[in-house]
Amino acid sequence: MTAILSKDSRCNRLPLEKQQLVTALKEAVQKQYGEEDDFLDDATCRRYLAGYKWSLEQAQTHLMKTLRWRADVKPETWTCEFCLETPGQHSMRQIGFDRAGRTVLYTSFVQCASNSFSAEESVRHMVFLLENGVRSMQHRFHTKQQNASVQDVEEPAAAQDDTLSNHSAASSSSSQTGRHHHVPEQWVVVLDCTGMTLAACNPRIASAVTAIIGNHYPERLGTVVTLNAGYLMRYAWAAIKVVLPATMASKLQFINSEADYRKAPVCDVFDEELREWVREEERLNRVHPLPDSQRNFWKRPLPPAHNADNAAPVHDPRGTPSYVRDYVEALDVDQSGKDRKAHQPHPNIIQDLAGRITTV
Ligand SMILES: [Zn+2]
Repeated sequence: MTAILSKDSRCNRLPLEKQQLVTALKEAVQKQYGEEDDFLDDATCRRYLAGYKWSLEQAQTHLMKTLRWRADVKPETWTCEFCLETPGQHSMRQIGFDRAGRTVLYTSFVQCASNSFSAEESVRHMVFLLENGVRSMQHRFHTKQQNASVQDVEEPAAAQDDTLSNHSAASSSSSQTGRHHHVPEQWVVVLDCTGMTLAACNPRIASAVTAIIGNHYPERLGTVVTLNAGYLMRYAWAAIKVVLPATMASKLQFINSEADYRKAPVCDVFDEELREWVREEERLNRVHPLPDSQRNFWKRPLPPAHNADNAAPVHDPRGTPSYVRDYVEALDVDQSGKDRKAHQPHPNIIQDLAGRITTV
């Protein structure tokens, strides 16, 4: 018996036994759920099976719960009302992509308007980011595929996996994330612990966020990179680790010195653009008092000519140059939120682009 080729190329690379499990899960859930749902595709079934140790029964139970949750709360329509009410309430935002094309989310405690959050609002903000992160990965992958097709015609000798050949160290991680062969599916979270307070590292909030990720986004969290982790982060981590599944708890990496940026596996994740952005963002967020341009991280920075100090390129806290170019400045603010498949950046960035926000 041969498996029917799936639209999800990762499924086609699985052993036959697992491909059959993907098909069996999809058929079982379709039968039980009784409705068509775009979310229920081979890639989703594969992630649920992988997330539940390839147990058909467990994957079916949890996938059914997610389908009902999605139908009930419609997470793809969420924004973060808390940030709309209080600009910068949450500083976590997508700032780009890693070497493997995975969504990179960054947050700094010093940039948050408040260091006291409820679990509800943290979940709201996080789900908004996660849903939009998936959209950006899909959009970027398909755009690159289209461009590569054009280049193939014009330059048949050009290597399709150009970045792989330049960064062999990344190829091991790319094999996990499917760079250049599959739509990337995971997020990388960069957590700058500078300014972390006891209130902000409430384990109940971390537990609420990780529960949502664990229950409804299995196999989506790729790596968490922490910057400047002090004793509070170590304290919080010890508490959070207890409630995390082992697969999630093993994803943490630390950067506590300049040298750490150059070590594997961090340099396997960060390409040069991302590394330079994170280093400069981290440096500016350690300045006292915090510069207004960092506090109002959603604002488009003034062009170099308006800077008194020098004409060097200005750091943009909204994200890496390529992310800002493709997903911030290219945003159609009038249409933003109407197309459910289009990526939206941080809610305050959208407000700023639309001229609907003031500085704080
Ligand atoms: Zn928010």
